[in-house]
Amino acid sequence: MIIAEELTKHYGKATALDHVSFTIEPGESVALWGANGAGKTTTLRCLLGVHSFEGALVVNGINVRQQAKAVRAVIGYVPQEAVFYDLTVYETLRFYARLKKTAPDRIPAVLEQVQLVPHSAKRVSMLSGGMKQRLALAAALLADPPILVLDEPTANLDVAAQREFIHTIQVLNQAGKTIVFSSHRLDEVIMLASRVLILENGSLVQTCPPTELAEKLGLQRWLRIWVAVQHQDSMLRVLREQGFAYTPNGRSAYVKVTASSKIAPLRSLELAHIPVEDFDLVEDELVPPRGLNHD
Ligand code: ATP
Repeated sequence: MIIAEELTKHYGKATALDHVSFTIEPGESVALWGANGAGKTTTLRCLLGVHSFEGALVVNGINVRQQAKAVRAVIGYVPQEAVFYDLTVYETLRFYARLKKTAPDRIPAVLEQVQLVPHSAKRVSMLSGGMKQRLALAAALLADPPILVLDEPTANLDVAAQREFIHTIQVLNQAGKTIVFSSHRLDEVIMLASRVLILENGSLVQTCPPTELAEKLGLQRWLRIWVAVQHQDSMLRVLREQGFAYTPNGRSAYVKVTASSKIAPLRSLELAHIPVEDFDLVEDELVPPRGLNHD
């Protein structure tokens, strides 16, 4: 669906993208991950054909350099924060339909896809941030493009609105749309991406499944285990003997676990006949959990 070969972008003397190559298959949902300035937006803007670049870029069989306009017909683009005139939701989509030369009879279907049907008569100024982003998504869906490109689409949303937006994108992906998005939020990359491209200073340094991203970033899962006071020392002894990395914390201990062996410490304690009072899985925390020292 998308083939980038040696994609390179210079801004004056600065190199924003440095020989980046990747392939995205139809139906994939790919996240671009990287610090500020890593080159995520530049990559997305190259895909959209709004930037000059070096290297080769083919999107849905279209050579982007030669047919920049044609490529924008097969990509729906959702920016970080869309700016709209103060029309109603329906009028906004009619405006975009005219702009994109698509039939306005698509509007009810896209309103349905983004769950804005009950809000179609509201003015944009009355919408929440989450609704505005869904309106931007609706505009991107008007021409029913096979590809959606989203640049940090939930960066300004609260958690509830973010979840709702991500769910809508998941449904679109399951219906066959190819998704390419940039994100700073690990939880959303894990929920939405089938693959992550990690950019660093304009270079593609790694491609990995989203589940591996947390560990690559030094983020970690911890199992917090509580035992009665009289079992505290024995718990720590067993954890130590079994080779677990742990941090005592009052009556509990944080034990480092992996995605595939989350309950291994509980098994060891059970075998040693140490009764566990409670446990909790703490995911994606910085190492060590805030305020604790790790051995
Ligand atoms: P962010 O998360 O901050 O949006 P990003 O990963 O999207 O970061 P880009 O916006 O692609 O990064 O920027 C990559 C590099 O190119 C940065 O060093 C940035 O300063 C530079 N850059 C981006 N746009 C321009 C521009 N129009 N003119 C000059 N330099 C630019």
